[in-house]
Amino acid sequence: MKILFLHGWHSIVGGVKPTYLQTAGHEVFNPALDDDDFAAAVRTAQSAYNRHQPDVVVGSSRGGAVAMNITTGDETPLVLLCPAWRRWGQATQLKSNAVILHSPDDDVIPLADSRLLIAQSGLPPENLVEVGSDHRLADSSSLSVMEWACRVLVSGKRWPADDAEPWEYSSHAASRQTDAQLEASYICDACGEEIVIPLDVTEGVRQTYVEDCPVCCRANTIHVELQDDGSIQVWSEPEQDYSE
Ligand SMILES: [Zn+2]
Repeated sequence: MKILFLHGWHSIVGGVKPTYLQTAGHEVFNPALDDDDFAAAVRTAQSAYNRHQPDVVVGSSRGGAVAMNITTGDETPLVLLCPAWRRWGQATQLKSNAVILHSPDDDVIPLADSRLLIAQSGLPPENLVEVGSDHRLADSSSLSVMEWACRVLVSGKRWPADDAEPWEYSSHAASRQTDAQLEASYICDACGEEIVIPLDVTEGVRQTYVEDCPVCCRANTIHVELQDDGSIQVWSEPEQDYSE
């Protein structure tokens, strides 16, 4: 897909995030945005958008504010990384096909700013994904969630993808206030019961772990995979018994 990446204040063009997207096989346009003149940065971003007609716009920090202040088609989703919308620009709302990634430990832009933005845009709390350990969001979990979010939104699905058959998941009522907490289920190989598990997409697009079935107590190896089309696959197998 074609991605317009809008970098943060005093970030280098060709940083770790656009490089990650490029390495994942996407065509990334990463224009150099004026660090001092916000209006000039918006003009540069707008002309890059008009010229390249990207499938998705990714904006990081100040670049997130730039992304909110350019005119994009209704069908062009936004993936914003800790957007600095309260510092720069006039836009105070997001379109419906927008997702924010923000670290709870961000000490540059408070997570509360993104919570407010989601709320005043009328978006569900799931559209804010808490991920990463700092403002940069350059760790591997943040990078993979960023790329996954692009694929889900460009595929035209709502966030989170709402037809992830056969694994149904729904927002966790108890954690609605906190972050994007999803559930999935698998069938225990040993007893045949359906076991519901919480999903943490911030753990990466491929996860494997062992847990005891809460019904029959047999140990299962759980595999979780976030698919390219945005669906989530979960399956289990009996944990390998190496003592035999
Ligand atoms: Zn079981």
